[in-house]
Amino acid sequence: MTDHDTLLDGTKTAAAIRAEVAAEIAALRAAGVTPRLEVVLAGDDPASRVYVGAKAKACGELGIGSHTHELPAAVTRGELEELVDRLNADRDLDGILVQLPLPAGLDSHAVLDRIDPAKDVDGFHPHNVGLLQQGRPGPVPCTPAGVMELLRREGIEVAGRRAVVVGRSDIVGKPMAMMLLHAHATVTVCHSRTRDLAAVTRQAEILVVAAGRPALIGADHVAEGAVVVDVGVHRVDDLATVERLFPGNTRKLATFSSRGSVLAGDVDFTAVAPKAGRITPVPGGVGPLTIAMLMANTVRAARRRRGV
Ligand code: NAP
Repeated sequence: MTDHDTLLDGTKTAAAIRAEVAAEIAALRAAGVTPRLEVVLAGDDPASRVYVGAKAKACGELGIGSHTHELPAAVTRGELEELVDRLNADRDLDGILVQLPLPAGLDSHAVLDRIDPAKDVDGFHPHNVGLLQQGRPGPVPCTPAGVMELLRREGIEVAGRRAVVVGRSDIVGKPMAMMLLHAHATVTVCHSRTRDLAAVTRQAEILVVAAGRPALIGADHVAEGAVVVDVGVHRVDDLATVERLFPGNTRKLATFSSRGSVLAGDVDFTAVAPKAGRITPVPGGVGPLTIAMLMANTVRAARRRRGV
């Protein structure tokens, strides 16, 4: 069992961020502005549907106007672009989010590039990627921004420390590395071609893992006392794997028997937690922070766009 001082509780930090965002929304609404976010969901990927549902729920709870445009998997690039153009032109709309991945055959760059950068609450538009790279203000990707907020609010020193990021996606790994660099960490980025991954990750005082590989990171990958942030999310639906990853964990087994699956991360939590100084759980780590930062980005976009 991991004690509370070791656990980095993303749910708690997300609640604090959401309370601050709610206060900002109340002030905006008093000034006659209701921030609005619209989501484009193309196809029927079940995980995407869950994420979009969670985002809509958060908007409802915080008083952000929201709507989801559901499109069939067979939607054409032209139809998607036409929708994005319409959302760009809507003066009362502050945020546009195109849920990834898009159905096979659709070029996500072409669609994301079309979003008005001022409404790009995911921070994926090349204009905003450039601003982040230069350390200038602008919308930044929600997941790595959430990780930075977690580190900051938990009082974890970043400046001068050795940080290792596993994964180099445009959504998580690259912006994560850039944000850690701006916060003055010495940053190494690993990927699928990295030789002797464990030797590199053991150098980390702060280790952020976003590889999309269940339990990739074991005890051998982690230095004693390291801060470990697990971005990965996987649904594990076979009992043998649940028992291997969470031996003797009665809560996980109870969840498995009631729901038929449990969530796990890219980090083998059971093996790594005793060695880590601080560690995020899955669920209850990075996931809630991502949604909280999306809400914060939407409110920021509303303020910037409407000059409030
Ligand atoms: P992605 O686009 O698939 O990128 C995965 C990255 O990990 C790639 O750069 C890949 O290297 C690297 N990688 C794969 N296997 C590796 C290995 N064995 N050793 C070292 N590096 C390896 O994934 P993503 O979108 O960044 O997402 C990563 C994970 O985070 C997924 O589980 C996803 O579901 C989760 N996620 C969670 C949230 C949240 O809110 N909690 C948000 C976003 C994503 P190459 O570049 O060489 O292929």
